[in-house]
Amino acid sequence: MIDSLSPNFDARDRPISIVVLHYTGMPDAESAIAWLRNPESRVSCHYLIAEDGQILRMVAEENRAWHAGLSYWRGERALNGCSIGIEIVNPGHEYGYRPFTEEQMAALLPLLAGIVQRYRVAPANVVGHSDVAPARKEDPGELFDWERLARLGLAISRPTRDLVDPHWTDGGFLLALERWGYDVRAGDDAVVAFQRRFRQELVDGVIDGECRALLLQLLLDRERGRSI
Ligand SMILES: [Zn+2]
Repeated sequence: MIDSLSPNFDARDRPISIVVLHYTGMPDAESAIAWLRNPESRVSCHYLIAEDGQILRMVAEENRAWHAGLSYWRGERALNGCSIGIEIVNPGHEYGYRPFTEEQMAALLPLLAGIVQRYRVAPANVVGHSDVAPARKEDPGELFDWERLARLGLAISRPTRDLVDPHWTDGGFLLALERWGYDVRAGDDAVVAFQRRFRQELVDGVIDGECRALLLQLLLDRERGRSI
């Protein structure tokens, strides 16, 4: 890990309880790093992972980096104050979205494991930027391998068993989505964010039986203490 510090931070207002994963969404790593270090951008992150797996530390964990913006998750708002932000270099949907590299994933896993252990972050609080700002953001996107994190207990796994469609109305689905943690005021965007996270092969914003079954099982697993 090397230091490549950003001036864009201030003091935290809450303890760390959430990790937000991002992609950089810029044409190349150099422009993303320059932007994150530019005082005029007013954005930053704690860590950036280059495509070759090199980790840059840009803001110390005890400080508040400016990565999440207007955001909400499970009752918390303005998540910069209580989260660690990790940027993973990828051009993103605007400049040529592509799979994250093996080197990036291999670098992310131990970094994330250390953060989760240090601050006792719940697996359900390791989230994507699109989960916490669904109306504005689509990163890290549907190519991000959440299951690889989940296998190590670092994120919630996509349910695979006991899937039953509860036949909720669309309003009922949004209510359940709110209960899982999303800000559902921009309803369709929250549905898309849920699909990017838990039904990556079909991100169409349409609430169907599979989406309902996945969300029901997530909530039931939480009730039964299989996940938190
Ligand atoms: Zn982001």
